[in-house]
Amino acid sequence: MAVLWLDEISAGDLEQVGGKGASLGELTGAGLPVPPGFVVTAGTYRSFIEEAEIDEELFEAVDVDVDDSSALAEAADRAQELILETPFPDELRDEILESYGEVGDGEAFVAVRSSATAEDLPDASFAGQQETFLNVTEEDLLDRVRECWASLFTQRAIYYRQEQGFDHSAVNIAVVVQQMVDAEKSGVMFTSHPSTGDPTMIIEAAWGLGEAVVSGAVSPDNYVIDRKDRSMDVTVAEKKVKHEKNEATGQTVEREVPEDKRTQRVISDDEIDSLMDLGERVEDHYDEPQDVEWAIVGGDVYMLQSRPITTIDEDDSDAATGSVDPTKGLTDGSGSVQTAEGTSSAGTADAGGSGEVIVDGLGSSPGTVSGPAKIVTKLDDLAKVGEGDIIVTEMTMPDMVPAMKRASGIITDEGGMTSHAAIVSRELGVPAIVGTTNATTVLEDGQVVTLDGDKGSVLEGSAVEPEEETEPVEEVRPQSPVKPMTATEVKVNVSIPEAAERAAATGADGVGLLRTEHMILSLNQTPEKFIAENGVDDYISELVDGIRGVADEFYPRPVRVRTLDAPSDEFRQLEGGEDEPEEHNPMLGYRGIRRSLDRTDVFAHELEAFHRLYEMGYDNVEIMFPLVNDAEDIYRAKSCMKEAGIDPEKRKWGAMIETPASALSVEEMAEAGIDFASFGTNDLTQYTLAVDRNNEHVADRFDELHPAVLRLIGDVIETCREHDVETSICGQAGSKPEMVRFLVNEGISSISANIDAVRDVQHEVKRVEQKLLLDSVR
Ligand code: PEP
Ligand code: MG
Repeated sequence: MAVLWLDEISAGDLEQVGGKGASLGELTGAGLPVPPGFVVTAGTYRSFIEEAEIDEELFEAVDVDVDDSSALAEAADRAQELILETPFPDELRDEILESYGEVGDGEAFVAVRSSATAEDLPDASFAGQQETFLNVTEEDLLDRVRECWASLFTQRAIYYRQEQGFDHSAVNIAVVVQQMVDAEKSGVMFTSHPSTGDPTMIIEAAWGLGEAVVSGAVSPDNYVIDRKDRSMDVTVAEKKVKHEKNEATGQTVEREVPEDKRTQRVISDDEIDSLMDLGERVEDHYDEPQDVEWAIVGGDVYMLQSRPITTIDEDDSDAATGSVDPTKGLTDGSGSVQTAEGTSSAGTADAGGSGEVIVDGLGSSPGTVSGPAKIVTKLDDLAKVGEGDIIVTEMTMPDMVPAMKRASGIITDEGGMTSHAAIVSRELGVPAIVGTTNATTVLEDGQVVTLDGDKGSVLEGSAVEPEEETEPVEEVRPQSPVKPMTATEVKVNVSIPEAAERAAATGADGVGLLRTEHMILSLNQTPEKFIAENGVDDYISELVDGIRGVADEFYPRPVRVRTLDAPSDEFRQLEGGEDEPEEHNPMLGYRGIRRSLDRTDVFAHELEAFHRLYEMGYDNVEIMFPLVNDAEDIYRAKSCMKEAGIDPEKRKWGAMIETPASALSVEEMAEAGIDFASFGTNDLTQYTLAVDRNNEHVADRFDELHPAVLRLIGDVIETCREHDVETSICGQAGSKPEMVRFLVNEGISSISANIDAVRDVQHEVKRVEQKLLLDSVR
């Protein structure tokens, strides 16, 4: 069988039908409104190249140095030529055309989409990489299928695979052939927030076919909806063009949107309700947040595609629980800033420029960078984009990926949170702003600007704060992507289990902090409420499953799991939150180990989860207690561990150093038996300096490198070394080069950084270690 029908396919057929095909099959099977169609399987592609005996030549042709532009171009040409010039065997031709005859009335317009077997996998959104053809009829169908196959070997696809470490010969491609929906309106929907994972749906909508939104040709309306109470924030964009079918030719054409509809809201409240219901069903079905393409025609909603969101960001997800770096704003997809308005970019812009906001748009990939703007109006302009430049363009296209990677930032006139620029820049970790409407006309070529990807603003001049400059790391970064071997371990922080795969891919030596409260907060109920409604076993299972996902991903590398630490104001927002204590200052209140030792009944269930994990053989799991003050806290926590059947002598466990009291009593804590002490600098800084980490009015005083904080840290490291206790850092400051330099010099055992900072920290550690070695022999 060369083809499989969508209703015959389930998620288990991924290898045969690719991510897109499997997803459509799953959705069809779940009874969701998916247009009918079939998939030309990956096996069919494989037999096509093997039977024609072009396979070996193909893989040889693409085995080139992808940084050599002309070699890359030649490789892509040769590979595509091989596929496009090989004729279809008769039998295959007949089977595909017969299947087409069964779609619609046999004269249907179909969409022909590539579905690579490595595409859409959770750890790699290969956004917009392979071809899609709309409104295809019988006449062109076979050519289009072959073009989809050939699109596996475009320059950008070859480049991308090489960079992501995918073996060319291991990636196959299936082709989805599906009845077209003549969408009157369409767009995309994130079932949860794409940066933070919050229960916030983001819907983008424009007139006509969805391709206009995904390709960034149009800036869509943006609807940010709270899933709990369905309150909504709507930003209506000016939609000048739409994509639709030309009735005469069947081709997709770009047309102007009539004047009166340009600034009109695209979807009604009722349609939003239907979309949200569908979104919730899809997310429930997959049990994780999805990025969904949808279309509406004649009042009916169709789902065109769904895939997991791969871009949920560790930093921003902290914001959901109030533990956000207070100097940072949040991108919510509406282009506005949810928090920290008081620390506007203008406030930090004092070096070499007016610091005025000259352009703004949707902050779509976080981070702040300064550099010369390079206006790119045609592909030839890409050559002028060098390291550290900021690309300014109408919209990015997949061919721009190599240049996007060189660039330090990306600004586009058009596009929304799901446009190519937004998705790829997030995956590349390059700060980006999309949908500015006018950046290419307002900014001048070569003009030095600062891009703030959190707030969505472009400022005049250079205004990057020193800690965000990566130069010290860049200086020593070797050109090859080899992981530096360091004596000081470099680990990674994980807040949501879904990020485990990405975190593990960093090559980190383990997880230095897994925050369990995110697992609980995602249940939307306080632990007490959840237990009352679902029973103890379900609660324990939630924890076991969440932790296990990460422990599996890293096994046998160690995963340091922290017991629950969320202040009562965060629990207050959950179901059951009304029973939380009223506190004037929750940061100084009922959280961390204090809460656990007060509610030892609930704490016992958490510890039972660890016990079960140990029984299951996860000996890489370590236990860490938050917000302890002294040895008394440690002794009490230790006896709870024993009561739960965990042998403290056998398992590795320790405490966070987050208060001056804990720093000053670390010697006694060492005597109480801790194996490690880990600096939570987010809290240690706030409690040492009396600076609320969430208060933007004092954000400029929040300084993890303050001499008082460093003194506490230095003393703890010294004491721990004397007592053979390991030391680590898992606060945000562990991702900062200055802090890394200080800690390695002091002799810390490990550093845990954010996913996107791991590699830089590895290099920085290596550099300091080498310097220490050199100094000792000089
Ligand atoms: C810290 O305080 O530095 C820490 C890592 O814990 P959290 O940010 O979760 O309070
Ligand atoms: Mg903390």
